[in-house]
Amino acid sequence: MADMSLTKTPITEQKPEERICNFKEVTLGYTAEEAMREAGRCLNCKNRPCTAGCPVNVKIPDFIAKVAEGKFEEAYYIIKSTNSLPAICGRVCPQENQCEGKCVRGLKGEPVGIGRLERFCADYMMDKKKDIHKAEPNGHKVAVVGAGPSSLTAAGDLAKLGYEVTIYEAFHTAGGVLMYGIPEFRLPKEIVRKEIDALEELGVKIMTNMVIGKVLSVDELIDMGNEAVFIGSGAGLPRFMGIEGENLICVYSANEYLTRINLMKAYKQDYSTPLLSSESVAVVGGGNVAMDSARCAKRMGAKNVYIIYRRSMDELPARKEEVHHAIEEGIELKVLNNPVRIIGDENDRVNSIEVVSMELGEPDESGRRSPVEISGSEHIIDVDTVIMAIGTSPNPLIKKTTTGLETNKRGCLVVDEAHATTKEGVYAGGDAVTGAATVILAMGAGKNAAAEIDKYIMDKTNN
Ligand SMILES: Cc1cc2nc3c(=O)[nH]c(=O)nc-3n(C[C@H](O)[C@H](O)[C@H](O)COP(=O)(O)OP(=O)(O)OC[C@H]3O[C@@H](n4cnc5c(N)ncnc54)[C@H](O)[C@@H]3O)c2cc1C
Ligand code: SF4
Repeated sequence: MADMSLTKTPITEQKPEERICNFKEVTLGYTAEEAMREAGRCLNCKNRPCTAGCPVNVKIPDFIAKVAEGKFEEAYYIIKSTNSLPAICGRVCPQENQCEGKCVRGLKGEPVGIGRLERFCADYMMDKKKDIHKAEPNGHKVAVVGAGPSSLTAAGDLAKLGYEVTIYEAFHTAGGVLMYGIPEFRLPKEIVRKEIDALEELGVKIMTNMVIGKVLSVDELIDMGNEAVFIGSGAGLPRFMGIEGENLICVYSANEYLTRINLMKAYKQDYSTPLLSSESVAVVGGGNVAMDSARCAKRMGAKNVYIIYRRSMDELPARKEEVHHAIEEGIELKVLNNPVRIIGDENDRVNSIEVVSMELGEPDESGRRSPVEISGSEHIIDVDTVIMAIGTSPNPLIKKTTTGLETNKRGCLVVDEAHATTKEGVYAGGDAVTGAATVILAMGAGKNAAAEIDKYIMDKTNN
């Protein structure tokens, strides 16, 4: 008999006043008893709407049934059969738009805490010995560009099929946005490192400080005997608004700000890569990147942190949980506002931002009501730092240095349904193809591309 309580089993969290002084993980995860109780809320629906809502079709009712029985290891392997990074997805997937958004329990009350249960199973197995089946080498080589979730998934799947796989990563650390973008308090780097260690145990080689397009070209990777190349280079090129004052000191792209904190450890006293301190910070944008930047600014000591977003609360694209946590942490959401210019002091450091109030007009092509300026409503907000989190696009370096590789007008690599680019033997997936999206979509693309690469190489070998 299912537990019919209408709300999710609560999760323990660090208190807001404590957590804004540290970078430790905010939500602490379920205990075994809490996980079993939450699993007991699942109705084991025959038509499995939750599984249909998951981009990699995790067998959700099956793994939850095992959790309810206390068979956590079995639950973990059910998840793992379709999702190679469950500890990460359990923490960062936008479940409310995916599995939990489709959960029948959500029709009356809260959906089952599918993300929390996925995280529980992955954490339960984190330090346990896992089944790692190193495949017999099949004599074929594949190169993978970038080490974000799309590439890690593609590399893992190819290694399991016996390919000799080498990842070439531009940064000094593998992990992509999981390492340099999403902060420690949401996704501990230890977890990402363990997933990468497991990949290396499968035989994947990772070469860091290798900017493809500079140190080696895609053509050189092919000349080195790689029969296919997978490009998972993400969308790391920040966008700015093109308004006055964007070159002032202490205007950052969110990418730079977050990389300085997450990868360069600006929050640690013993690192030599600090950030200038800020008293009042404006973060422009309303997605996860904006929430992460604002919450980092708070933890870096800013007293006032504002999110400036041109639409209303209902349109905020960030995960609900992140918005909830940001508000709890004292971040002020100035919705229906848009920056007009950034104003500097005599030393060219930001000292305020001028914004204009907005109202929502007719729906645009995305179906959302478009923001319209209210004339004469310009006003000034005193800030000493501005962080732009209004989106990113793929870096053009690989396209510029590779003949035959086409991109669309947004700079994204053009691929067919088999993830093949316009260049023979070169495949691509993740944000480099879709533009900034989600971890699970990047992983799904890496998985499908790996299967297509295998088909391509095997067809060539057998014909
Ligand atoms: C701050 C932030 C928060 C986010 N929060 C969430 C969230 O909560 N949930 C969610 O689902 N998604 C979130 N996302 C989006 C998600 O992280 C991305 O969609 C996902 O990481 C894309 O994966 P990817 O493998 O395509 O690219 P990336 O993760 O961007 O990895 C690309 C890698 O390629 C490397 N690279 C680039 N160019 C080269 C080159 N020329 N040579 C070699 N290497 C290269 C980069 O250094 C990087 O390591 C967030 C993104 C950001 C920035
Ligand atoms: S929709 Fe919800 S209740 Fe039904 S099987 Fe999926 S998780 Fe369980």
